[in-house]
Order: sequence, then structure tokens, then C-alpha cells
Amino acid sequence: MGTSAPESSPRAPVLEVFSSIQGEGAFVGEPQVFLRLRGCPLRCRWCDTPGSWTLPSEPTARIARPAGARRDDAWATPFQAACWIAEVEPGAPRTVSVTGGEPLLWPAFVLGLKPMLGRRRLHLETAGAHPRALDLVLPACDHVSLDLKPDFDLDPPVELAHPRATPERAPRDAAEWAVARTECLRLVAGRDACGKLVVSGGHPAEAFAPILDEVERHASGLLVVVQPASPVGGVEAPSQELVDAVAEMARDRELPVRVLPQVHRLLGIP
Ligand code: SF4
Repeated sequence: MGTSAPESSPRAPVLEVFSSIQGEGAFVGEPQVFLRLRGCPLRCRWCDTPGSWTLPSEPTARIARPAGARRDDAWATPFQAACWIAEVEPGAPRTVSVTGGEPLLWPAFVLGLKPMLGRRRLHLETAGAHPRALDLVLPACDHVSLDLKPDFDLDPPVELAHPRATPERAPRDAAEWAVARTECLRLVAGRDACGKLVVSGGHPAEAFAPILDEVERHASGLLVVVQPASPVGGVEAPSQELVDAVAEMARDRELPVRVLPQVHRLLGIP
């Protein structure tokens, strides 16, 4: 259908749909379906999916069926995406992780997807840069994996500026990030959610303290998943001492904490 479809249609550009094992967060190890949306204004230095950042002029979606992958027009309605999810499931219905890119660029699509999923759970994986969009989609989410982004590991954002995308802008500096994190933490407080804190090397443990303070203040009890950064794009892997220190700082604030590497990388799967 492409970008000429009516603006009222809650379409989103899909990069890929595939079955795999959840490699991060509170549901690590669970067989799931991943619906990866295109578009992300953030520029995390450790990003492992930079191919999701932008929109080519005629994007296509990869639908990784058990019988073999095929491609289709990327601009999917929730109904089309739900059909693709059913196509890639190797067996019984699975939890669907909506990931990116940044799925909150397309809140109407995420909202519209939930009723199409039958008894499947919808898990949202978000950078936590768009609190207004998060507020909008929360009723559709059975679980939220909220990134706790240390702003010192981010390059300046590059807005997608697409007419279908949310007009909400990503934070541009440390102060704006603090506001966005606070709002997102308040929204997920008390819900089925976790906060993912990627710890890269080359920083003192205290650099991560303000984020943990925010979690303690605004979402006490939120599970914090400390994820050692994978060494990509010039980002250093953290020392074990740094990871241990950050985990201990979370425990000092009486936050439940798990230290988890990217398990799908260890398994060599997508
Ligand atoms: S938010 Fe996700 S997709 Fe966007 S740059 Fe960061 S890691 Fe990459």
C-alpha cells in the first residue's frame, strides 16, 4: 500500500517478523515471536540494529516463515501484522514482542495490534524516550521492557519526521532524558514491567547511580535487568567489577535486580 494510504489507517513499517528465543529482560529464554518495526530517532552507541533506524523509500518486511522467508510491503495494518505473526509461529500461539527500532513511533498501530492477537500476550520493548506515546499504548501491553538509557552512551537523536510517526520528539540532552525517564517510570510503576540498564565499560559505577535513584523514587519494586554491553561500534564491554558494582547499587536501593547478558547472542540466534 505504501505511504499513500489514508493517514487514519494505523499502519506501521515492519522490518521483520520472526520466531526466536527472548534474549533479554524479564522473559529471557521464552520462545516468542518478534515484530520489529522500522524507525528510531535514537543513536545508542551500542545499537545492534542500526538497520532499523531509517525508512527506505519503498520498504519491505521480511516474514521469516518456517517454510522460508518471504517479503511483503512493510507498511502493515495491525491485521496484516497479526497474519504475519501467525505465519511465522512454528506451533501454538506465542507471546509477541513488539520491538524496533522504536515501536512508540507508531502508537496507534501498537494499540490496534492487541485486539488482533487473540490470546497472545503483547510485550513492548521501548527505549523510554516517548512518554506520551507510552501512556497511549499501555492498555495494549501485557508487559513493558523499558530501557533505562544512560544519556552518556547516546549520540544526538535524528528525528524520523515521518507524517505517520508520533510527533513527540526524543530527548536531546541529559535534562530532557531525566524528564522522559521519570515520566516513563511513573507510567510503568506497579505494572508488569522491567527496566533494562545497559552497562558499558569506561564509566565509574557512580555514573549509573542517578538512573537507579530515579527508579527507586518513581517505580520502587521495578525489576532492573543489568545488561553488560556487547562490544560493538567502539563501545567497551564492562568489567565484571563494574557490573557487580551497578547490581549492588540497585540492591542498595532495594530494587530487584538480575544480571543478564544478551542470551540470543550467546546462542547465536537472531
Ligand atoms: S533505541 Fe534501540 S534501535 Fe534505537 S538506537 Fe537505541 S538500541 Fe538502536
